[in-house]
Amino acid sequence: MDIEEKLAILADSAKYDVSCSSSGSNRKNKGGIGNSAPSGICHSWSDDGRCISLLKILFTNECIYDCAYCVNRASNDRPRATFTPDEVARLTLGFYKRNYIEGLFLSSGIKNSPDYTMELIYKTLYLLREEYNFNGYIHAKAIPGSTLQLVNKVGLLADRISVNIELPSRTSLDKLAPQKKAEDILKPMKNIGDKIVARKENKQKFRNTPKYVPAGHSTQLIVGATPENDNKIVNLAASLYNNFNLKRVYYSAFMPVKSDARLPALNKPPLLREHRLYQADWLLRFYDFSAQELFTEDQPNLDYRLDPKLNWALNNLHKFPIEINKASYEELLRVPGIGPRSAGRIVAARREGSLSYLNLPKIGMVLKRAKYFITCQGKYQAGIPFQEEIIEDRVIKEMGKKDLHQTSLFSLGELDDG
Ligand code: SF4
Repeated sequence: MDIEEKLAILADSAKYDVSCSSSGSNRKNKGGIGNSAPSGICHSWSDDGRCISLLKILFTNECIYDCAYCVNRASNDRPRATFTPDEVARLTLGFYKRNYIEGLFLSSGIKNSPDYTMELIYKTLYLLREEYNFNGYIHAKAIPGSTLQLVNKVGLLADRISVNIELPSRTSLDKLAPQKKAEDILKPMKNIGDKIVARKENKQKFRNTPKYVPAGHSTQLIVGATPENDNKIVNLAASLYNNFNLKRVYYSAFMPVKSDARLPALNKPPLLREHRLYQADWLLRFYDFSAQELFTEDQPNLDYRLDPKLNWALNNLHKFPIEINKASYEELLRVPGIGPRSAGRIVAARREGSLSYLNLPKIGMVLKRAKYFITCQGKYQAGIPFQEEIIEDRVIKEMGKKDLHQTSLFSLGELDDG
């Protein structure tokens, strides 16, 4: 099999991994220019916020495991291929030199054994870094079950590593991916997180401390393949951030790729749920929310009609309206429609004198949603009574069906401030 055939198979096999954001379009070329259907190049964000394009491939789509949700599972009848380390290195270099990509996202099925596959990933990265002197971005997958020494060797060469947790509970893992053990996933995650912290401490003492996954580590959680509610999923994410020093949790709406009695029969992937989970995750990381604040015993799932911050505000209306001229930065952050940037601007502008309602748009604050939750110089100017049902009704009307649909398609990078 030539390298182009392998590329077609192994780029297609990588498309379901969202732990680097990917090309999910299915627009075909109907005689014009371009074709977004084939996978292969995806976009991701580097540590400094730049959008970068990556060659997104599997090293192999052969796999000894048979995870029910996976297109590459052993029992699935599909074309199989395996690169050599040199093929991946040459492809990466070739694409890079033609300016198609700025880096590589390399994942893999498990061929022969976890260590056998991890060794091949290491050899590929070693070739790229040491033989070809490639300094572009590399995101590599750590294979669950491989030895920590191998994972750490890859960590010294990669910019980012991810270990995919895939399912939100041990029960679900046992049911859908019985060959994977939770410890085989959690142990390398913990080890990578600890190493990142240790490296930061060493760096302060020794200038020449080698880099270790400088862009951090991430994981992917499949949403909708198993019965866990959003409360369970968001709490798990919070615990991964807090205990494993994780940079990102990616949520992937479950797409049925092969029927299996253990899987739910879905007509389409739960994209709106995925989107709301990303928003809840955003609140954990940048708005100082705890997972517990977003759910109650009666409401263990997010309200998919509303973004979680707005929903929280409506459920906690006794904390509003807040006075723009007096609220702390933390309180401002809780106002729907106010994000870190606007909150910072308000705090800075207040130092010059009391802010009037008319001053707020001038400092870049969008009042469309925030107006329902604030007073300015003591005045409430939303134009409707301050009551939960009335505000909720107005906001939903303002969103309209189109907005509700679109939110399911937007990526995090396009979310509004707030
Ligand atoms: S180990 Fe990975 S590639 Fe193999 S079947 Fe499971 S999810 Fe798919």
